[in-house]
Amino acid sequence: MNAAVEIVCDIFIALAGLCIGSFLNVLIYRLPLGMSLISPPSHCPQCNAKIKWYDNIPLVSYLVLRGKCRHCGQKIPFRYFFVELSNLILWVAVLAVFDLSVYSVAYALITSVLIAIVFIDAEHQIIPDSLNIAIAAIGIVITVYSAFFPQITGVLGSATVLWWEYLAGGFGAALLFAAVYLLYRLIRKKEGMGLGDVKMIGALGLALGYKAALLLIGLSAIFACIYILIMKIAGKLQADKPFAFGPFIAGAAYACMLAGNYVIGLYLSLF
Ligand SMILES: [Zn+2]
Repeated sequence: MNAAVEIVCDIFIALAGLCIGSFLNVLIYRLPLGMSLISPPSHCPQCNAKIKWYDNIPLVSYLVLRGKCRHCGQKIPFRYFFVELSNLILWVAVLAVFDLSVYSVAYALITSVLIAIVFIDAEHQIIPDSLNIAIAAIGIVITVYSAFFPQITGVLGSATVLWWEYLAGGFGAALLFAAVYLLYRLIRKKEGMGLGDVKMIGALGLALGYKAALLLIGLSAIFACIYILIMKIAGKLQADKPFAFGPFIAGAAYACMLAGNYVIGLYLSLF
């Protein structure tokens, strides 16, 4: 693609990333409460004042309002700013690593769903089915596209992932993870992970292919172990509180999306 055209596309996608980041905040707040995503329009939970469009500009409005409601001065959680900024930065990283294609757009969208899962699972210990379905739907688009254009290209080189590898990833990862889940329940006689985690791994396996899915399962377990170890050393581990595994799967999934195929290629080249 022409370099100038690509720059214009990148700027447009970054702006879209900001808008979607703003929508993620609505999703994170309303989805676990079972509220409609479109009505009522955004309002202050304290004074009920409707939030005007100029107070709803991603990143900018939070800074202009200094994190407070224009009408009643109620504090706006920093999370709103953080989610918008994270979505922008993580999207830019996806665009920087991959050439502009159906793959890079799909990865950017999955990234946004992952951000929503991180915040919802950390706070409510649930992963809404709708978010897993969204990842699976993007995975289906990737699978169909790969039947015609199996090559993923970017700064880390190119990788070829065939359509059946995605299907194998979806079914394989979900089965493997479900087996671990059942085993854990048999041994510990309690729920270690929710079924939401199993569904999430299955949906991501479909979107990434079976090789990256294997990497994903290993990496998310390593991330969780490191976290548990740190919390244990700091004496902050609460055994009675349900453990949210979703954020670790999400972090691992993002790493696998960006560099998974590259790492797998390096590994396979050893033999
Ligand atoms: Zn207010």
